[in-house]
Amino acid sequence: MSNRYERSVANFKEAVELIPGGVNSPVRAFKSVQMNPVFAESGQGCKVTDVDGNQYIDYIGSWGPLILGHAHPKVVQAVKETAGKGTSFGVPTELETKMAKIVTERMPSVEVVRMVNSGTEATMSAIRLARAYTKRNKILKFEGSYHGHSDSLLIKAGSGVATLGLPDSPGVPGNLAQFTLTVPYNDLESVRLAFERFGDDLAAVIIEPVAGNMGVVPPQPGFLEGVRKITEQYGTVLIFDEVMTGFRVDYHSAQGRYGITPDLTTMGKVIGGGLPVGAFGGKREIMELIAPSGPVYQAGTLSGNPLAMAAGIATLEEMTPDAYDQLEKKGAILEAGFRQNAEEAGIPHHINRVGSMVCMFFTDETVTNYEQAKTSDTGLFAAYFRNMMEEGILIAPSQFEGMFVSMSHSDEDLARTLEANRSALKKLAG
Ligand code: PLP
Repeated sequence: MSNRYERSVANFKEAVELIPGGVNSPVRAFKSVQMNPVFAESGQGCKVTDVDGNQYIDYIGSWGPLILGHAHPKVVQAVKETAGKGTSFGVPTELETKMAKIVTERMPSVEVVRMVNSGTEATMSAIRLARAYTKRNKILKFEGSYHGHSDSLLIKAGSGVATLGLPDSPGVPGNLAQFTLTVPYNDLESVRLAFERFGDDLAAVIIEPVAGNMGVVPPQPGFLEGVRKITEQYGTVLIFDEVMTGFRVDYHSAQGRYGITPDLTTMGKVIGGGLPVGAFGGKREIMELIAPSGPVYQAGTLSGNPLAMAAGIATLEEMTPDAYDQLEKKGAILEAGFRQNAEEAGIPHHINRVGSMVCMFFTDETVTNYEQAKTSDTGLFAAYFRNMMEEGILIAPSQFEGMFVSMSHSDEDLARTLEANRSALKKLAG
């Protein structure tokens, strides 16, 4: 590692002694690109400056929340003003109702919403609620999807289609894994098979309406509709995990973009404007089972925290329908440019995009599921990542993550990104 990252290297060395792996969330360690992570000093708009003074055009965006970019003046002002009045109370605030109003207006399937502190909490609570509502135990998820790190959701597929799951991490009891089925994304036939075998004990299907944790994988036409139909037929709760896509891919989120009405929706990231937030909501009939209106327990000391509500509200107020049109255009510019550059350089590629979520897979295969995503050359991606860093572009340090375009990426920033991408790909081609 060159001197360019001297202080980040020293910081990481110190952090490793004190924090497991030196980081508070695994992907931040840059392991899959065999690099020392850079430590952030500050961010402004789409630019991040590291502790060594290197500046990057940032497409990590805190892994999705920063749809307005870093330190947006309206968000900063809202947080400052709110902090001056107290950071947490333990009695309700008006900000919580204001947030609930915005969410229920923009997501018509959500009649009632409960705030939590992370996406993990949201999905974990939604699963508990679906189990209580249906009085069933099993859930179905999709291979390559990520729904946070609660036990029931850290499960990988067993061998063969429609078999019971296996723990994906030590510490998850095998008996619990048996309640989670995993089938390939975009494979309606496998969903049907799973329902034929286990449908009467399936409490919930949890799905990312656009898969964003295996790179970016859009739903194939008819897939979400098919899942909605089967779940309805079996009385199974359909949970859209919109922690990533919520208020990112459309003013009405993915459910609005694709015209599907889930029973429950989980949220996070953008609704917190960069502060720790999650939420779950949906049909009143189901949500009313949550304590204190019902018997399903769920609580949180800091849930609905005023600072997080203020940052989220300020963010959502900026995100008008017109803002989503602008994001769509920005995403399309990157998609077209990346494709042209990769073709010119003769690099195997498949580019998927939904709105401002963009992913360049280093494979010739069309990517509609995790198996296909895994045909990507991750060594080539790692080299590409390092080239992009040298060019001053920060993307997620993994082939299996997307880029998040924000409102703060100007035409100039996008043009600079495409120049960097062209040069990074050319270097790979040798
Ligand atoms: N669900 C999805 C779709 C996610 O992308 C994530 C995080 O990336 C989560 C849930 C978990 O959210 P959190 O990291 O806030 O716990």
